[in-house]
Amino acid sequence: MALHRNVRAEHADATIGFRPQFSRSGETAELPRYRLSADGMDPDTAYQIVHDELMLDGNARLNLATFVTTWMEPQARALIDECADKNMVDKDEYPQTAELEKRCVAMLADLWHAEETEEATGTSTTGSSEACMLGGLALLHRWRSRRKEAGLPTDGANLVMGANVQVCWEKFCRYWDVEARLVPVDASCTHLSPEGAAARCDERTIGVVAVLGSTFDGTFEPVSDIAAALDGLAASSGVDVPIHVDAASGGFVAPFLDPDLVWDFRVPRVQSINASGHKYGLVYPGVGWAVWRSPAALPDELVFDVDYLGGSMPTFGLNFSRPGAQVVAQYYNFVRLGTDGFTRVQQACRDTARWVAGEVARLGPFALVSDGSDLPVVAFRMADGEDRFSVYDVSDALRAHGWLVPAYAMPEGLEDVSVLRVVVRNGFSRNLAELLVSDLGNVVAELGERAGGRATADGKRRSAFHH
Ligand SMILES: *Cc1c(COP(=O)(O)O)cnc(C)c1O
Repeated sequence: MALHRNVRAEHADATIGFRPQFSRSGETAELPRYRLSADGMDPDTAYQIVHDELMLDGNARLNLATFVTTWMEPQARALIDECADKNMVDKDEYPQTAELEKRCVAMLADLWHAEETEEATGTSTTGSSEACMLGGLALLHRWRSRRKEAGLPTDGANLVMGANVQVCWEKFCRYWDVEARLVPVDASCTHLSPEGAAARCDERTIGVVAVLGSTFDGTFEPVSDIAAALDGLAASSGVDVPIHVDAASGGFVAPFLDPDLVWDFRVPRVQSINASGHKYGLVYPGVGWAVWRSPAALPDELVFDVDYLGGSMPTFGLNFSRPGAQVVAQYYNFVRLGTDGFTRVQQACRDTARWVAGEVARLGPFALVSDGSDLPVVAFRMADGEDRFSVYDVSDALRAHGWLVPAYAMPEGLEDVSVLRVVVRNGFSRNLAELLVSDLGNVVAELGERAGGRATADGKRRSAFHH
């Protein structure tokens, strides 16, 4: 999480004042902000202080920047409340929570077409970032042991992926000392191409990451074509590279909306898949999933046995204690929605995204980069020749209407192109979409008038937006 540097030196005397009607006799009406106060206070007073301050957090439902769930049913909230005290790792105490995790893994393995005979193995995580770390570690350890067996050096490992990968992959590479081979994107292909992937692999490549649902524009990478290119490479050079699919968002979309799209364990080269339960798995943050196609895809040395009364539980994760509530909420969604319910929820998102895309295209100043037909995500840039205002101006102006629509530069290869992105999630109804489009129309008109023919530079790039 955010790293907070030397806070005390900067804010030694900062205090929080609170309204007199909330201070009980004997309490002061001031509280140090960055130190523990000597005395505690009445719980109602403490609640009011924290509650009031949090009003400054935005309205998550109007946040079109995030992929993460911002609405769940009251019944799910009740279960989350009931499970707030449950520790996922404590199988002694909470055997049934562990059982629900197991059912979720089995359901996902089935959804992603793992063969029963291959004995798929998986786990819940705090999110896709942790799941990606685990996927990457399995690739790294497998590569190392193959190299050791062959009597070859085990240094200089690299991982091949598109420049559009989520930041967690660069983190994986830096934390575990693996070279990140980022394949630049271009206007005709805004994500990893099969040729681009194969061209960068060599004998030190631990794997290729294919992303099902690029965070930059929501497009699906062509997993089976990437696999075919790697089959070709293996046949011609002997360099045989496994694939991990980062299906953070797409893992809960494609199985329901594009059942014929072959991206999962149906592709023999795909060894592992991750997804974020808290994105299109429709659970509040933080839960993710990682599944390996077979025990062979997951090296034994990465598995730790945790003792519990009556047995030992194999675990693979970066954390030990973790909340169990999100796993329970994931199971609730599976039971509540079934295949039909998930299909209807995701289809509604895609329909809304495609409608938004059509309206954005009709406004005039924009050109679509993606139209919501993969993930329900619409990315758009300024149309060629439109220089009266920039996507950053549009993002700022929408914020004044309460909408959070981020603007950012595309990845290496397209870094001169800046886009706006709208992520359509469960709960962003057609009605809200119509209000957004109407505000976008007004913003465009206002900005056009204000510019009055005067060109503004598009180069006003802000600090990088993190997806
Ligand atoms: C969101 C995302 C991640 C990181 O997932 P978290 O669940 O936020 O940790 C990784 N990869 C992709 C493609 C994503 O969309």
